[in-house]
Amino acid sequence: MKITEIPVAGYERVARAEDPASGLKALIAVHDTTLGPALGGLRMWPFRSWEEAQFDVLRLARGMTYKSAVADTGLGGGKSIILGNPKTEKSEALFRAMGQFIDAFGGRYITAEDVGTSVEDMVTVRKETKWVTGLPRSLGSSGDPSPWTALGCFLGVKACLEEVFGNADLAGKTVAIQGMGHVGTFLAEHLHRSGAHLVVSDLTAERAKEAAARFGATPVAPDAIYDVPCDVFAPCALGAVINDETLRRLKTKIVAGAANNVLLREEHGDRLKEMGVLYAPDYVINAGGIINVSIEVEPGGYDEARSRRKVENIYGALKTVFRIAKDEGVSTNRASNLLAEQRLAKGRKKG
Ligand code: NAD
Repeated sequence: MKITEIPVAGYERVARAEDPASGLKALIAVHDTTLGPALGGLRMWPFRSWEEAQFDVLRLARGMTYKSAVADTGLGGGKSIILGNPKTEKSEALFRAMGQFIDAFGGRYITAEDVGTSVEDMVTVRKETKWVTGLPRSLGSSGDPSPWTALGCFLGVKACLEEVFGNADLAGKTVAIQGMGHVGTFLAEHLHRSGAHLVVSDLTAERAKEAAARFGATPVAPDAIYDVPCDVFAPCALGAVINDETLRRLKTKIVAGAANNVLLREEHGDRLKEMGVLYAPDYVINAGGIINVSIEVEPGGYDEARSRRKVENIYGALKTVFRIAKDEGVSTNRASNLLAEQRLAKGRKKG
């Protein structure tokens, strides 16, 4: 395997691996380990070029630094990418080679499942390196992150309600959920149990129908979700859903959901602020999964009760973000970046 170092300003280590024997073409980016080893998922995606993949891995690694800093996981930020089609190009040899590449980072980068990779792939990676999280519960690991992400989101929705309405009561509130996948369904369960009325959409109409039956939700067509008059819009499907077009349509007081990269651009968070809509920054409210995984890396190993306590901190983290936003007169997305930067600066001073 040929490993080539790529110097990138602002990043601790970025490297490319090429292994003709297994077909591996991969990148690992360690953005910042001030607060701990860099944890971030392994993505497999058919990028058209190294440049495109590198752009993404750098952006995602930096995002993980900020996410972990605000979630107080004791971890830094990193990410890795295998260039290839996850539907047709997976093999045992490929993931074993990736495991060797990860191992060459000596624990400064720790991997996990991500878009295009599965728990089974992580089990293969584990054959070559111990720096893997998110293995099955049967192997003493932390298992499926989705229920934890959903719990964090649920508590985040409550923190938003308290901020806007003066109490966190969900009874009689309407929540519009976009995406009834893993996280969306667990979130719907929490919200339904607390007395919220749900309006749901999914590209797979069957999933929205199932939610209607299970939670008494009102199903709507995928594109209609933006027009639903509601207290909370919870994006749990895809990114960039807050953009110029949807901002004109939204009839909500709060945007709080699990999806990554909810804002098309940071400025769209400023627009939400101008409209008087409270935005729960995506990487703060959706940190339940990474918090759960981070417990695995702690000296005592995985502990479900400890994970729950830490995920519950998302409520307080959001309240801190809202306070900074008020004090500094900035949008909540900019406030969470400020909080992350403050924590990193403090960590650097200590180190
Ligand atoms: P998933 O694939 O299980 O669910 C996504 C659902 O959204 C699917 O049912 C899909 O059909 C639906 N969907 C896609 N496009 C849609 C559209 N335009 N309108 C309505 N529905 C649409 O994914 P998930 O694990 O539930 O994750 C949901 C989101 O949360 C993703 O953005 C993911 O990156 C983010 N996230 C997930 C976790 C986690 O623990 N799973 C952690 C952090 C962030």
